[in-house]
Amino acid sequence: MIFKPGDPVPEGASDFVTQTWEALNYLYKNPLPNINIVSYLVNDNQNYDIHFTEQPLNNKFSVGIEGSLSKDKTILFNPSYGMEFADGKSRSPLLALAHELDHAYFYAWMVNVLDELEAKEEAAPTVIEKEKIRAEWNGWYDGLRYRFWSEPGSPGDKKEENRAASNYEAYLAKKRGEKIRTDYYSEENYPVKIIFTGNVFSSKRTENVGEKEKELEDKANEIINKTREKIKSNEKQKSVSRPSF
Ligand SMILES: [Zn+2]
Repeated sequence: MIFKPGDPVPEGASDFVTQTWEALNYLYKNPLPNINIVSYLVNDNQNYDIHFTEQPLNNKFSVGIEGSLSKDKTILFNPSYGMEFADGKSRSPLLALAHELDHAYFYAWMVNVLDELEAKEEAAPTVIEKEKIRAEWNGWYDGLRYRFWSEPGSPGDKKEENRAASNYEAYLAKKRGEKIRTDYYSEENYPVKIIFTGNVFSSKRTENVGEKEKELEDKANEIINKTREKIKSNEKQKSVSRPSF
């Protein structure tokens, strides 16, 4: 199924498709003042797939192997789990989708800059000019690699995570009265637990949490506790396989 802004949820759609579709329509109608991220991705010349992931801590924007700039890009998303923070505030799955879409948007934007530079290089009349443009291309490519192909917890990864956490996600959090994260790896801004909201727009744990969902919550919370201990002891995050969301 291909999402088009404003289209109704396709008939017979699964719960995942229904919730994701409604969330995308909401995000389309509530863009950042300077950029409509959903529009940008819908109109981009690359495809962006959104797949269901059962694990609550597995939301992720994935760019595939290094160097594969033209390959289709994937977001993993679970529309039923939110997060709670140390100050008692929480956030809905909607914000998690906005966060992953923001990664996808920034990636797509950088790839488009690279494509434009390549076209400019081709059209440049002299070798010297071509070399100058190629050097600029290399700089942008290094920047993209730094953000999207570095180890989880590395400086490049943190830079991109902090950007995404304080951009569209923060804008929506403020608008909706949900938890605003100003960075990504601090005790204050790292979740204390996962909550089964059962709905993409809700930031409250529902009363009807099934056995399976409880189990998934417990497993995710164990990982969160370990990561929080690491954050507390200020250890390098490099060796920790922290969940990427
Ligand atoms: Zn992220």
